[in-house]
Amino acid sequence: MAGPCAVESERQLLQTAETVAAAGARVLRGGAYKPRSSPYAFQGLGIEGLKLLSKARKQTGLAIVTEVMSEEDVGLIAEYADIMQVGTRSMENYSLLEALGQCGRPVLLKRGMTARLDELLRSAQVIAASGNPEIILCERGIRTFETATRNTLDIAAVPVLKTVSRLPVIVDPSHAAGVRSLVPVLARAAAVVGADGLLVEVHPDPDKALCDGAQSLPFEQFEAMMHDLRRYAAISPAFEDARPQPVTAGGAN
Ligand code: PEP
Ligand code: MN
Repeated sequence: MAGPCAVESERQLLQTAETVAAAGARVLRGGAYKPRSSPYAFQGLGIEGLKLLSKARKQTGLAIVTEVMSEEDVGLIAEYADIMQVGTRSMENYSLLEALGQCGRPVLLKRGMTARLDELLRSAQVIAASGNPEIILCERGIRTFETATRNTLDIAAVPVLKTVSRLPVIVDPSHAAGVRSLVPVLARAAAVVGADGLLVEVHPDPDKALCDGAQSLPFEQFEAMMHDLRRYAAISPAFEDARPQPVTAGGAN
């Protein structure tokens, strides 16, 4: 899954969609409703962004994943998106999770930045218990004392979640790293520990991006990463065979 942090314009989105599709992506990401840390930052194009995403799907055949921040937007966004993204800041928004139980679309559930894995699984259970078992779990880095990266990628989350749950698990190396130079190597690590997919930010001109430019890959770097990942994806572990001892996420500190 790849694409810009935020949908900014038709040109930006369609160029990115064509490029990531040609490089092997299956899903186009792009935020139309953005949860920004500052109220003065770009908040997204809203419904115009959703329309551009649907145009990009038509043009490339890519499925669309986009974030939903409020239960009030679930119906509207489900009309445009193939996968509904729950952001890190919303993992514990239970009214949103309950509404997503009835949305008729798979949900990509991001780990809260200070959430344990058992808490992530509990949020997944809220969606499932509300009627929707189609959930993809996403490790996107957690907040720790370390400041060298934007977040700390908890790489062990992948084998732990794969062992205790049957849900697909993906990794977002972009929000974990915060800088684009680290994205390909974190993506490699994710592939090797058995992640089922990646969520990666890509932008035609990252230094001019309205959102998360520092961690967004320009086209050439995304293409190079996709090429490099092929051999690592081939050596992913089989989790059915990797259950010697039952692991209970969050059982002990
Ligand atoms: C995003 O995917 O652009 C995003 C806002 O991610 P997160 O919720 O992980 O910060
Ligand atoms: Mn982003």
